[in-house]
Amino acid sequence: MRRIKPSLAKAARKRFSADEVEAWFRVLLAALAGKPLKPLLAELSLSVEDVAGLFHLMHRHLPAQNSALSRQFAAVQRRTLTAVATLTPPPQTDTPLAERLARFGEQLRQIPAPDAFLQHAASLIAQIFPYPSINIFLRKNTSQTVKLQAALWRGVPPSPEEMAAFDEQIAATDNIVRQTLADGQPRLAPRPAYTAPPPMTNLADEMAIPLRGKEHILGVLHLVSHAPHRLAGDDLSVARAIAASLAMEMENARLQTLVRRRNYEQRIILESNIAVGSKLQPDEILALLARKITEGLQAGACVISRWHEGHNTLTAIAQHIRTHKDNPSRTWRTPNDPLPLAQDAIGQQVLKTMRPLAIRVEESAPPESRPPWAEPGWKSLLAFPLLAQGQKLGLVEVFDRDARRNFTLEDIQLGRALAAQATVAVEQVELFRQTRQRLTEVSTLFTLSQQIIASSALRHEELLESIVTIMREIVDCRACVLFLLDETKEYLEIKAASGLKTQWKKSARLAVGEGAAGQAVAQKKTIYIPDTTQDPSFIFFDTSIRSLIVVPMIFQGEVIGAINLDDTRPNAFDESQERLLAIAANQAAIAINNANLLRRAISEEQRTRAIIQHMADGLLLINHTGEIVRVNPALGVILNMHPSEIIGRNIHEKHLPPRLAAICAPLTEKKRTGLLTREVELPGTPPTIVRTFATAVTDENKQPIGEVRVVHDVTQERELERMKDDFVSVVSHELRTPLFSIQGFVRLMLEDEVPDPQTRREFLTIIERQANQLAEMVSNLLDVSKLASGTLSIEKKPVQLIDVINQTVLKLQGFARNEKVNLTSELPTSLPLIFGDAQRLEQVMTNLIGNAIKFTPAGGRVTVMAQRHDDHILIAIADTGIGIAPKDLKRIFTKFYQVEEHKTRTVQGSGLGLHISKRLIESHGGKIWAESELGKGSTFYIQLKVADFDAQPMPARHETD
Ligand code: ADP
Repeated sequence: MRRIKPSLAKAARKRFSADEVEAWFRVLLAALAGKPLKPLLAELSLSVEDVAGLFHLMHRHLPAQNSALSRQFAAVQRRTLTAVATLTPPPQTDTPLAERLARFGEQLRQIPAPDAFLQHAASLIAQIFPYPSINIFLRKNTSQTVKLQAALWRGVPPSPEEMAAFDEQIAATDNIVRQTLADGQPRLAPRPAYTAPPPMTNLADEMAIPLRGKEHILGVLHLVSHAPHRLAGDDLSVARAIAASLAMEMENARLQTLVRRRNYEQRIILESNIAVGSKLQPDEILALLARKITEGLQAGACVISRWHEGHNTLTAIAQHIRTHKDNPSRTWRTPNDPLPLAQDAIGQQVLKTMRPLAIRVEESAPPESRPPWAEPGWKSLLAFPLLAQGQKLGLVEVFDRDARRNFTLEDIQLGRALAAQATVAVEQVELFRQTRQRLTEVSTLFTLSQQIIASSALRHEELLESIVTIMREIVDCRACVLFLLDETKEYLEIKAASGLKTQWKKSARLAVGEGAAGQAVAQKKTIYIPDTTQDPSFIFFDTSIRSLIVVPMIFQGEVIGAINLDDTRPNAFDESQERLLAIAANQAAIAINNANLLRRAISEEQRTRAIIQHMADGLLLINHTGEIVRVNPALGVILNMHPSEIIGRNIHEKHLPPRLAAICAPLTEKKRTGLLTREVELPGTPPTIVRTFATAVTDENKQPIGEVRVVHDVTQERELERMKDDFVSVVSHELRTPLFSIQGFVRLMLEDEVPDPQTRREFLTIIERQANQLAEMVSNLLDVSKLASGTLSIEKKPVQLIDVINQTVLKLQGFARNEKVNLTSELPTSLPLIFGDAQRLEQVMTNLIGNAIKFTPAGGRVTVMAQRHDDHILIAIADTGIGIAPKDLKRIFTKFYQVEEHKTRTVQGSGLGLHISKRLIESHGGKIWAESELGKGSTFYIQLKVADFDAQPMPARHETD
């Protein structure tokens, strides 16, 4: 069969097993039915004491409120125990008293349930002294009053009401219990001096023996006898022995309680430890600790607060209030709301002395005189500091609603032990908070940089706007203003703002060094004003601003501006925000700088693009595979292809269009600069000559990534060069021919080889003509060089063209006659004046009429005509000469150009006349052109504007371009 006895221990822990409940019911039912109990008790291995103990425990765990049930139960209990008691064998008088006493001590020690210890002890005493009334009184606190803790009246424990009634009698009268308590002397009295409760009527003698503890009297053992057991002196000495044993065991029990309490502390500490080390959230750990401290100290509430050294505030970070109908629902601390130490008497005292503090308020104290901590309804307070390695971390406060609650040294010790845990927890929480803060910072910064990256593509102002918005969001404050240094670096200008009520003046200026922002820039450091009302160094125009922080924006050691944040609360910014803002400000500085760079890069790129787009040279970009990735319009023009036909083709392709193939051919020449170049002729009519230059494009690691080719059209240059070469040979030939003939004739005459005056005259005429030609040629060359250098002077005056034409025709008649060409003019009687240089116009006429004569075979005709057309005069020089092919007609006005076929003729020329003529006419604001048919003749036209004297005042001189 099961052993029930050990389960009493379990019962004491308020848990009954099914077996125990069953055993108890069986005993109860058997007793009530008047059945013999002995066999049952034997079967269950229960003694009378076990049954009494069980009853006692059951009684204790009855619902306290239900007094009717409790009364019924007491009645049943008494009846059962009376029945059980009848089984109890009479005291074994044969057992020596000494032995019984020894057993008593041993039995006392074996009482397993501490709660039922005294009741159990009473049962054991009853076995030694079968007195009708055994009472064990304990002293209340340190006072001179006692309370009946355990009793057996005629073998049955009295009901709580009976016990209370007896207490009252003891308290009300002078009796041996109180006397013994007062002087510690055992007493034996013949007659009770008070009215005994009903079970103790007809009592004879009573004894009061002190229960002496180590330091003071713990209580009184009170024994009452009735006849035939009258108390005697022997009884007194036995009772004193019993009382000594009992007191010792009580002391032991107290110690055990202490040990249990230590165990409990250990357990709480262990649990807290586990919690601290566990994956619980920091606030959960703190909440758990607050709860453990409340429970461990059996108090009403506990608050853990953290001290902020910088701000000198205490902030409640965890709180536990035990749910009880009489407990106030709050403490004087508002969670997470910093309280300045100046307004915190408890915090001030504890953190200053670093010693625990226990205070109680008088129950009778009127509510208005209560200190703030007691205001919610708490009456007793224990506060002690939270320390970590000598560092003040904060404060722990324990509250109780009972004004009599005396926090003992043990409470403080347990509190301290738990606080040590709390310290670890707080440190961990701090660490966690810092980590989380860092994480938040990192993620905020990440968000910031993302947003900044996103907005750096925006316009500059949008970027600045987004910076102030983000910064304000980061710290959640009233307003944020961004200043940038102006070009002089002497002033800060407001560039963006967020959260300002009054419209800020855009570009409002602040000198460097002026105000908080000016100071932050001047000192290159963050300026924090936690409370503007306490800071006389700055004047604040907006009095609603209570705290202010300015962080400078620094890029590569240079301050570029500052960000100013303010709030209507004092102490609005904490250290971590300060740190965050400093980093964010520098990020903003980078972003602003990047945006500037980007802007510059974009405009640079736009410029480059425009240059490429509009440059006269063709340009193509080839990637490392040979693919043409970009071309400019000029290349299209040069190749006579649309850019879309070129892009995407590969230079290594076999069947490229011939002109494209020509410029894609490998470049062979190398210039001193390292440029590869090649001159190629692009097939076509006329062929185009281009010079192609190539430069390799490399990446930052100097790895080739492609090539840029520039295609420069050199057709004209080559033509010019060719013409120049021609000119040199022509000029040298042309100059030499008249020179030779002059030399020849002069030598003949010097050697007197020509005696005939007629021949001499002819010779001299030839010499003169050749010399004139030379002079003309030299003057032409001079004109060309003057035209080229822009120093040819033209003196404009009103000119009558008829005179100019007539003079020229007259002058050239001799030449025409020589050439057997008929030179005539058809002119109106009058022409309006033109404004020009008569000499230069005659030079033009001479050239044109001279050419006409030159290129007209003998028998031909040259006619000079002039007519007015509206506000123009048109002059035409028509010949019936050899004519000019269309391809040449386009080019005869260019420098040095001479029609190839004409050069075989004996006519002289340098290819300069028409070029000079064209430039001269153009400098008169006129036009010159020619019409011709090969073999039939040519007509050269000049159109000049009629002078308008009203509109045009007469300038004295005019330079040609
Ligand atoms: P040049 O000194 O050779 O005459 P120009 O500039 O006056 O130089 O003329 C250029 C070329 O134009 C001449 O060489 C000639 O071939 C052609 N040319 C000019 N005038 C005529 C013309 N009336 N008839 C045919 N060819 C002409």
